[in-house]
Amino acid sequence: LSKRTEAFTDSVIRRMTRVSLKYGAVNLSQGFPDFEPPKEILDRLSEVSNEDYHQYSITWGSQNFREALAVKQSRLMGRKIDPNGEIVVTCGSTEAMMAAMLTVTNPGDKVIVFSPFYENYGADAILSGAEPIYVPLYPPEFEFSRDELEKAFKQKPKALILCNPSNPCGKVFSYEELRLIAELAEKYDTFVITDEVYEHIVYKPNKHIYFASLPGMWERTVSCSSLSKTYSITGWRLGYIIAPPYIAAAAKKVHDFLTVGAAAPLQEAAVTGLKFSDGYYEQLLDKYTAKRDLFLKGLEDLNINYTVPQGAYYILIDISEFGFDSDLEFCETLARDVGVGAVPGSSFFRENVNHLIRLHFAKRDDTLFEALNRLSGLR
Ligand code: GLN
Repeated sequence: LSKRTEAFTDSVIRRMTRVSLKYGAVNLSQGFPDFEPPKEILDRLSEVSNEDYHQYSITWGSQNFREALAVKQSRLMGRKIDPNGEIVVTCGSTEAMMAAMLTVTNPGDKVIVFSPFYENYGADAILSGAEPIYVPLYPPEFEFSRDELEKAFKQKPKALILCNPSNPCGKVFSYEELRLIAELAEKYDTFVITDEVYEHIVYKPNKHIYFASLPGMWERTVSCSSLSKTYSITGWRLGYIIAPPYIAAAAKKVHDFLTVGAAAPLQEAAVTGLKFSDGYYEQLLDKYTAKRDLFLKGLEDLNINYTVPQGAYYILIDISEFGFDSDLEFCETLARDVGVGAVPGSSFFRENVNHLIRLHFAKRDDTLFEALNRLSGLR
């Protein structure tokens, strides 16, 4: 078999979902909701099955989907996005990120990745033959050092991967931090590939700033995102790339030969969501803010140490006090004996970190209460 398949393991995040199922644990590992998507989207999905959407859509996305997405994102990103030349619809942002890497890097190129990072980027780098340069984010605020970042840029990377808001640490990059990244990207002529799937889950008073909207950055930014988290449809696998035409044209080719296209009926049904008014996104944020507060309060009552996320729906928990040698072993025991699924923190850090685990709170309140109840067994 190929060397590249030997260079990474299966996804620990996805593996922990299987472990949770095996032990009947409340699954707070892989981040996805257990509540229903918006009714309007589901109603439209039922209708779509009787309409003519059963064959391939245009490879880079159905016209209706791209037009609706362009209207929504133009407003948010503060520039007029061309639905024909600047959007590629993909099978989840997982494909968007992989396609983005294959579009901008050559084998042997370096890519800057902040650590902790979302697990996929390691495998994406290996599959595309790129070599990650890791730049640490320092807790508790997960700040980076300008010097360390510039040192990474001096190694002439082809791209920087920016997950904002960050999975797993919940960091929302400030305007100043983004400006600094932009200044260095310009100085060292580097692409920036963003992963902004939690763009609508940013807790007040933090604000999401699209990297592509920074002065001069549009031309070098490949913005990747997804409908999974925003409309609670992770199983639909709908994501996209937004980029200037010269990048989008190359990404279209990569995407075409990777997957041909995202599911046509699902794209059509999702158009309903893309056309929601602002109220929907406000409600979504209120819902997640309440879940975050509920869950953090529960952990506090149990005297468990956690990070407070500024965005996304993950928290890192310090497990040092429980006396385990490895976070993997802790997570296995947690799923088996306590009945809660978590992801070992070591899956997200370049550094040797084995005292953290990641939990997520994108669950119904009764699921969160059940998880907290079970976690009290740790005490
Ligand atoms: N983003 C989610 C997580 O980190 C899951 C994504 C996935 O498994 N594709 O858990």
